[in-house]
Amino acid sequence: MIRADLHIHTTYSDDSTVTPKTLVEKLVAHNSIKVAAVTDHDTVNGLSETRKLAAAYPDILIIPGVEISTAEGDLLVLGAEENPPKPWTVENVVDFARENACVSVVAHPYREYGMGDLAMNYKVDAIEVLNGESSQQANKRAHELAKSMRLPGLAGSDAHTPSEVLTVYTEVQADLDVDEILKALKKGLVSVHSAPRSIHF
Ligand SMILES: [Zn+2]
Repeated sequence: MIRADLHIHTTYSDDSTVTPKTLVEKLVAHNSIKVAAVTDHDTVNGLSETRKLAAAYPDILIIPGVEISTAEGDLLVLGAEENPPKPWTVENVVDFARENACVSVVAHPYREYGMGDLAMNYKVDAIEVLNGESSQQANKRAHELAKSMRLPGLAGSDAHTPSEVLTVYTEVQADLDVDEILKALKKGLVSVHSAPRSIHF
């Protein structure tokens, strides 16, 4: 079993102050959340620096990913090593995820830039049901959406500042291995949790 924060922005996103170094340090220091997905806005450029830094620590793992801005709302592609081909329609992004053994996730469906009920029109793999930046009400509606679509519900902090990193996490029934984790996410071998901020530095 591993614990993962599945939605983090680094300084490779225009609006984040979390450097790859800070992210890696937080994972190293944390006593149980040792996995994080880098999901910058519309770019995978932060992956190589983050993974290079993480490589020094065998007990932590970076999951590659990206958060794609589509006209209908934001989609996370967990496992993505590169951007999907444009145009970034929901359909194209979901197809790209399927063809590349990635996991497509509807990010914060009931917040700004969320897909809302439109998610029901697409064959996505999972719904983000616990987003660290969303209101309780918005997360509750996301839970209900996942239930009605019979899809796994995932958690990610959506951190844009260091103090937000690792504040929520997804517990995954998998070992410390990207492919295993991605498969377990699709199968729904997951549960979502909030972590108290006070245990982080
Ligand atoms: Zn985000």
